[in-house]
Amino acid sequence: MTAGILRGPAAVADGSGGFSIEGVEIDPPGPGEVRVALRAAGVCHTDHASLSWAGPLLLGHEGAGCIESLGDGVQGLAVGQPVLLNWAIPCGVCFQCSRGADSLCERTHEVDGGRLGDSRAHAGATRWRGQALERSFHLGTFASHTVVRAEAVTPLPPDIAVDVACILGCAVMTGVGSVVNAAAVARGASVAVLGCGGVGLNVIQGARIAGARTIIAIDRVAERLEHAVRLGATHAWQVRDDDAEHRLLVAAVRALTDGRGVDHAFEATGVPALAFLPLRLARNGGDALQVSGAHGPATVELTQLFWNKRYLTPLYGGCVPARDFPRLFDWVRRGELELASLITHRYPLERLGQAFDDMLTGRSGKSVLQIA
Ligand SMILES: [Zn+2]
Ligand SMILES: [Zn+2]
Repeated sequence: MTAGILRGPAAVADGSGGFSIEGVEIDPPGPGEVRVALRAAGVCHTDHASLSWAGPLLLGHEGAGCIESLGDGVQGLAVGQPVLLNWAIPCGVCFQCSRGADSLCERTHEVDGGRLGDSRAHAGATRWRGQALERSFHLGTFASHTVVRAEAVTPLPPDIAVDVACILGCAVMTGVGSVVNAAAVARGASVAVLGCGGVGLNVIQGARIAGARTIIAIDRVAERLEHAVRLGATHAWQVRDDDAEHRLLVAAVRALTDGRGVDHAFEATGVPALAFLPLRLARNGGDALQVSGAHGPATVELTQLFWNKRYLTPLYGGCVPARDFPRLFDWVRRGELELASLITHRYPLERLGQAFDDMLTGRSGKSVLQIA
């Protein structure tokens, strides 16, 4: 059976802050590519930020669905197979992939002055109003179908629901991976987590799975802290308006760690002004990790790096798909990694605007678009 061009709805950003749901044309998969019928797609702050990237852009970089058709030469995948999509697509052969740093793949990420390193590294032609359409992170999951390189999909085990697994490929991987890969949190360690949103809650889950003894959740919102405690935080600190300099917070974290500070302090708020706050929460010789991908200027008093502290900015939890996704699936199956309760809202694709509003106002936790 030969696959033909498909037409379906997709969310297309106009490059100046707006978007619309419109029909697009999706080509059949070429050699080494697969076409995926999307079932569900996670909504992330990055999707909202991407509304003002150069457009037009087909939105969405988290998602899961089933293989609809296979291009020539694709091995190990079958039509109908449920798969998870992964936005940091490793090529397997570049400098970074060769040293095991798949999430930094040079053929997938922008190198060379902002141009894509290798146009062959991203698959598929999607057209909109007769012109080729860029897709968010070479995926474009806010659509009925997407064509991707086969390396962008990971088969999902049959016992993990596709419309729950769809969030594994961004917030969960970033949070858990930052703990187990980047920080390598050891059993008995102490951890502090600034911000208990989609990424922060998964830092907390990762720390619990790693066996951390002290896990301090920090947020402004009481309900988020309650969720953090249900997912494994041993202590919760609600940030106070009268503590703008964070002195009370730093003192509270010290008090819980013999006056020393934690072994690993994570920033997961996305607020540039908080990017260096983990340095004040970490002990001498400890780690401060900025895992939110915050952009913008921030200043640091250099003595906060004293002494022997490490400041790390792991991308996507250092994800190596072939190593990390099977491990996440295992933890989900054993009930150690909770997914369902992270998803607070579901919307049809046409209500993406509402999903953005609810996310920005804090009414929703993690939102999912139910596509099919
Ligand atoms: Zn994301
Ligand atoms: Zn590569």
